[in-house]
Amino acid sequence: MSFLSATLDRVKPSPTIAVSTKARELKAAGKDVIGLGAGEPDFDTPDNIKAAAKAAIDAGKTKYTAPDGMPELKEAICAKFRRENGLEYTPAQISVGTGGKQILYNALMATLNPGDEVIIPAPYWVSYPDMVLLAGGEPVVVEAGAETSYKLTPGALEAAITPKTKWFIFNSPSNPTGAAYTWDELKALTDVLMRHPQVWVMTDDMYEHLVYDGFEFCTPAQVEPRLYDRTLTCNGVSKAYAMTGWRIGYAGGPEKVIAAMRKIQSQSTSNPGSISQWAAVEALNGPQDFIPANNEVFKRRRNMVVEMLNAADGISCPMPEGAFYVYPSIAGCIGKITPAGVRVTDDEVFATALLEEKGVAVVFGAAFGLSPCFRVSYATSDENLKEACTRIQDFCASLT
Ligand code: PLP
Repeated sequence: MSFLSATLDRVKPSPTIAVSTKARELKAAGKDVIGLGAGEPDFDTPDNIKAAAKAAIDAGKTKYTAPDGMPELKEAICAKFRRENGLEYTPAQISVGTGGKQILYNALMATLNPGDEVIIPAPYWVSYPDMVLLAGGEPVVVEAGAETSYKLTPGALEAAITPKTKWFIFNSPSNPTGAAYTWDELKALTDVLMRHPQVWVMTDDMYEHLVYDGFEFCTPAQVEPRLYDRTLTCNGVSKAYAMTGWRIGYAGGPEKVIAAMRKIQSQSTSNPGSISQWAAVEALNGPQDFIPANNEVFKRRRNMVVEMLNAADGISCPMPEGAFYVYPSIAGCIGKITPAGVRVTDDEVFATALLEEKGVAVVFGAAFGLSPCFRVSYATSDENLKEACTRIQDFCASLT
């Protein structure tokens, strides 16, 4: 019998991290590589947030806090949910964790029993299925392809629900597609859920603030208040506030789930870093004006990338509403041969050849459960994006 836990046999390492590692290795070996794999803003954390963290250090706020967040941060999160989402939560209904990732993980660990099913629309954020597997549940992947703008249809959701369904994981705007659901689109999904009282909603609103062209974000418990008692509304400061390294995520939801998540956290990581929590208080309570300014930059990059990718032979790229990703299809490249003699049989082969032959790192679609596609993160400079998209155009033109 192996020394390692059998649970690990059920999961794979994060493919997005694998791509960044390979790109870093090639760079270290002197190759000219442009990375479009990063899932984090290239902007720096705003100065007022950094100042709040420095002040917390100087004031000696360096001790343990309550395991699932200090009162000041829970208050700031309650105020955020009220102000931005029209949702009323008390501090006892809030959990703060070490990034949005730990919040989702805690929630799944706290609720899943063997055989419990979790519906995950594909393409999905790479961690959802593996977290479900680690927690002992069964991921039920439902495709939402380009023909429905990468959005799950009510019929597909209805068809995936069984008596064993425990959670529906919802992510809008989405990683990896950038697709975001309008109020009406989301209402059509919550109408389905109203017919199935055993199904709870875990909504991952991490990219809430990153929407363009006047798109209005909405979240399930807001669109259907009758789902409030079975919704866990998850969010965090990582993306909108350019705070990926600070590791603060949070959720609002029914007290019994929040209490169960607290139990897990108290026996694993205890509290998220006290300094990061003070920084998050400032992020949520402080000025928000840099968000629209950053979004202008993201929108400009999105428009340029979509236009340049659509000009590449064999690529078709929908225009997403939000996040900082686009998810083009490479259906038109499948079966062709690269200049180095590689036959493009799938999106992993395409991405590997693109990296090795043109020095552009993207993440292949199979990692996100929907092929043949790849994900581009446009959270990098305009110059990098322009050069990378030109190389992708050259690569596609060179396929025979
Ligand atoms: N949810 C989605 C959809 C994400 O893309 C990410 C990060 O990439 C997370 C959650 C996790 O965020 P955090 O860095 O706060 O753990």
